[in-house]
Amino acid sequence: MSNDRIFLSRPHMGGSEQLYINDAFKKNWIAPLGDNVNNFEKKMRSYTGAKSTLALSSGTAAIHLALIESDVKQNDVVFCSSLTFCATANPILYLQARPVFIDSELDTWNMCPRALEKALQQYTAIGQKPKAIIVVNLYGQTAQFDKIIALCNEYNVTLIEDAAESLGSSFRGEMSGTIGDFGIFSFNGNKIITTSGGGMLLSHNTNAIKHALFLATQARDDASHYQHSELGFNYRLSNICAGIGLGQLEVLEKRVKQRRTIFDRYEQALQSTKVKFQIELNNTVSNRWLTAFVLTNKDNTITPMTIIKKLAEHDIEARRVWKPMHMQPLYSDYDYVSVDIDNAKAIFERGVCLPSSSDLTKAQQDKVIEILKDVVETYKNN
Ligand SMILES: *Cc1c(COP(=O)(O)O)cnc(C)c1O
Repeated sequence: MSNDRIFLSRPHMGGSEQLYINDAFKKNWIAPLGDNVNNFEKKMRSYTGAKSTLALSSGTAAIHLALIESDVKQNDVVFCSSLTFCATANPILYLQARPVFIDSELDTWNMCPRALEKALQQYTAIGQKPKAIIVVNLYGQTAQFDKIIALCNEYNVTLIEDAAESLGSSFRGEMSGTIGDFGIFSFNGNKIITTSGGGMLLSHNTNAIKHALFLATQARDDASHYQHSELGFNYRLSNICAGIGLGQLEVLEKRVKQRRTIFDRYEQALQSTKVKFQIELNNTVSNRWLTAFVLTNKDNTITPMTIIKKLAEHDIEARRVWKPMHMQPLYSDYDYVSVDIDNAKAIFERGVCLPSSSDLTKAQQDKVIEILKDVVETYKNN
């Protein structure tokens, strides 16, 4: 890999990660438990305000456990944002439950409350009320939780907040990850902070998290021998990785500021063009994990691939927006609920994610902007 390559979103160490790793070596806690794991969970509780936190090996594992703690079983219905990464939906299939995908709204790109209401009415009418709803906060922007929570309360359904991309964001002053009954984070290498791979489950329900810990450590019954009454998993975070997380937490607020500054620069530079950036909803703060926009030209003279290919020629990584789950071959047998047109598909077909690493230099960003302007201004003129 060349050093000049500009990545979409790469790890950005704060400097003290190695100290926490050294501490684990000194104490010989090279295990999926130890001080780093405990302190990482504790610091995440104070940062987010969640009553209970559980450090896990991935965000996907956290979603899997959140579904189990929501009592999702075989053939149960689970509603899920369609416009997302597959890791949001796959754990529904791990449990042999049935996903029903919900369309996006055009401003936040997240689950459309009107489509959610329609799906709740439809599925309640046939006696298949969902056990849980997984709502994703795409690229850092939270969904319209006031409306979504009102619907969850009205229908008495568990809300799981997939905050994998929105650590550090907030909704009406509440930290993302703590808004639903369960929240999950990912610390994968591309996220706003990383443990080189890891995740977290959060809840105000301490008993549920206690049981999730039991399941994440192979469901060992309280006995003097190895005894198991429930199906468990090996899902705990390593004490080494948690050390990286502790170092990263020290710079999280800084990373949010850096990503937001990157977004602002892109938006300023491209404001005279016709691209439309993902909005920041009133009363919310987005961590702007990735800067993303949609092209608004009606013809096909410029497509997301025109931009992505042009940037790739200069060794710059840009990506398409997630391909919606209801368009994936894996999920073609499952239902999709939308109120009018297919917004998720429209965003996918016109959307681009730009290089947004927190260590992107101004000079690097200027280079990206110059190339972008060249492409989008041609379409402004036609
Ligand atoms: C990254 C991501 C996940 C999965 O997290 P892992 O830690 O990679 O398992 C889940 N949902 C969304 C929306 C993500 O972006």
